[in-house]
This record gives sequence, C-alpha cells and structure tokens, in this order.
Amino acid sequence: MPPEPPRRPLRASLHEVRDNGPTPFKAVAPAELFAGVLREGTLTGPVTVEGTIYPVDETARLEATAKGTWRFECTRCLKPVDGAWREEVETEAPLDSDALDATEDVRQAIALAEPMKTLCRPDCKGLCPVCRANRNDTDCGHAEAAPPAEETRRPRLTKRHRKG
Ligand SMILES: [Zn+2]
Ligand SMILES: [Zn+2]
Repeated sequence: MPPEPPRRPLRASLHEVRDNGPTPFKAVAPAELFAGVLREGTLTGPVTVEGTIYPVDETARLEATAKGTWRFECTRCLKPVDGAWREEVETEAPLDSDALDATEDVRQAIALAEPMKTLCRPDCKGLCPVCRANRNDTDCGHAEAAPPAEETRRPRLTKRHRKG
C-alpha cells in the first residue's frame, strides 16, 4: 500500500529550529487542501512551499515562496486559460511550540493573488453578444454592439383610449 499523504503537509516541527537555528523548509501540498480558495478559477496542481524557518527572539518565522498552477476562464470568451502563480508567504509561531503550520497563510496568499480578470490573449475579441460565437474563431457577421436591452425592460405606457 502506498503511504498516506500527511494530513497537514505544511506543518513543520520546530525542534530543529530551536536546536540549530535557521532551518530550510520545503513541502508540497495537494490542491485539494485549498479547495474553494479561488472565487473564479481552480488550482490545477500541487502547491509547493519552499523557504527557511528563522528563530527571531521567542518566535519562529517562516519566510517562504508558495507556487503552483491554476486555470481561469477568459473574462471575455470563457476559454480556459492555464497559468502559474507564485507568492511570498510569512508565518509565525511561538518558538517553544511543537510546530508551525503555514496552511492558513498560504490559503490567504492564494486568495489575494487571484487576478481580477483573465484574458486568453490581450486582444481577445470575446463572444458575440447576439449568437455567442467566439469572435476569435469566427466572423459571425453580427454587429459589434448588442441590441439595446433597455427597450425590453422599460415599462410599457398604458395607452389611453378616448371615447369619441
Ligand atoms: Zn478570450
Ligand atoms: Zn454573432
């Protein structure tokens, strides 16, 4: 049987930091650990966290880089766009505690790194507002602008009939 992955892969023991000082830290966490962290996209691979744990006075401080891959839909044409991300992460714990766990800080770093919008290419033409065709692939021939939506939303005026 393959060994079970650790339940808390981003947890590091602090014994060595207390005994020897700055200690390298490297861990890989499955994307499932951060399920739901992105509002629009999904993580498509494991998250790697690499750095050093420093003893600073009574505190153990991890200074690390977290990185991984993700997928978003193009804001304009909805095509999937794969990308890589990379964020600095800092986590602290009391130096006399058993361990330091970077999970929450990595989760926050990923959430903050989420882009406001994603484009499959800078000049993506988007979807046709009339027939939803991808205008990067086809020229459906429809006009640039959608028909004014206000026309249908505006309340109808009741016609008055005059009795003559
Ligand atoms: Zn696009
Ligand atoms: Zn069209």
